[in-house]
Amino acid sequence: MTERRLAAVAAALGEAAQRDVPLARHSGVGIGGLAELLVIARDRGTLIRAVLLAQEAGIAWRVFGGLTNILLPDDGLRGMVILNHTRGVDYDTATCRVVAESGAIIAKVAQETTRRGWGGLTWAVGLPGTVGGAVVNNAGAFGGEIAKTLSAAEILTPEGHIQTVGPDWFAFQYRYSRLKAAARQVIVVSATFELTLRDPAALAAKATEYTERRQRTQPPGRTLGSTFKNPPGDYAGRLIEAAGLKGTRRGGCVISEQHANFFINEGHGTAADYQALIDLAQAEVERQFGIRLEPEIEIVKQSAVSDQLSAR
Ligand SMILES: Cc1cc2nc3c(=O)[nH]c(=O)nc-3n(C[C@H](O)[C@H](O)[C@H](O)COP(=O)(O)OP(=O)(O)OC[C@H]3O[C@@H](n4cnc5c(N)ncnc54)[C@H](O)[C@@H]3O)c2cc1C
Repeated sequence: MTERRLAAVAAALGEAAQRDVPLARHSGVGIGGLAELLVIARDRGTLIRAVLLAQEAGIAWRVFGGLTNILLPDDGLRGMVILNHTRGVDYDTATCRVVAESGAIIAKVAQETTRRGWGGLTWAVGLPGTVGGAVVNNAGAFGGEIAKTLSAAEILTPEGHIQTVGPDWFAFQYRYSRLKAAARQVIVVSATFELTLRDPAALAAKATEYTERRQRTQPPGRTLGSTFKNPPGDYAGRLIEAAGLKGTRRGGCVISEQHANFFINEGHGTAADYQALIDLAQAEVERQFGIRLEPEIEIVKQSAVSDQLSAR
């Protein structure tokens, strides 16, 4: 039954849709089993159509951007996985306003606005992922964050309508928006940023400083970025290091020697290996220091998606 519906939706989406694709190929950390139906949405029409078709057919669906912040399960995801590759960006010189499709690469937008001398996104010059993922996570670095410059966004509502919302709608907090907690039934289609004219040379110097800081502090290799949020008044990396866990391995994953809040897939790592390191760090830090670390990355379990599937 589901198979028939998946096949019909795949046929309707033509070349954008593929069956049984290893998500590890697309995820930043190189981990993740098969997507039953993978849709690569290269334009806004395909993005919206894929969601509406899945909804109509009663197929569970999720939209992802760069998959830079998600631990995907080894046994893959049922239903439809949509990868958002809508990359269009409009720069309005008169107003320093940027309207970006949600699949645009956030670092490229930040680099271009920095080059133009438009201040407000320079902190993101080295941020992996897409505009949509950055909005959902209220991504931030070096004192900047999405919430500070986002002035509006277009969303696709569960009823299938495009709606323009202001920043308040997102209820932004530290690395949080209401979409992080939502039932994943709303997607960000585009985002508008209001920037301000600044001295281009000063912005370029900042960009260089941020890039160098990332290179100095963040380990190279396949990671999901910071594994845990920093607890109030402390640093997750410092606590994991103090717990004596730097360099600890589980299967093909290791806690970085350079920065203990980064876990690296050395090539053959699995979600189970990554999860084992997460569990170990949480348990040891709590046992030794009485602090419960909360994951910053999102951990997706297949059961979550199949529950949604069977609930339909
Ligand atoms: C090396 C490294 C460094 C990093 N440094 C930072 C940093 O300094 N600061 C920081 O905040 N983060 C950092 N991150 C984490 C990550 O880059 C950001 O959170 C990024 O914004 C995620 O974007 P993405 O497109 O990859 O999202 P994904 O990982 O694909 O998705 C993240 C979440 O957003 C949802 N989502 C994605 N797009 C949409 C959309 N259009 N509509 C609705 N929901 C959507 C997904 O369903 C998922 O729930 C880092 C990661 C790495 C690997």
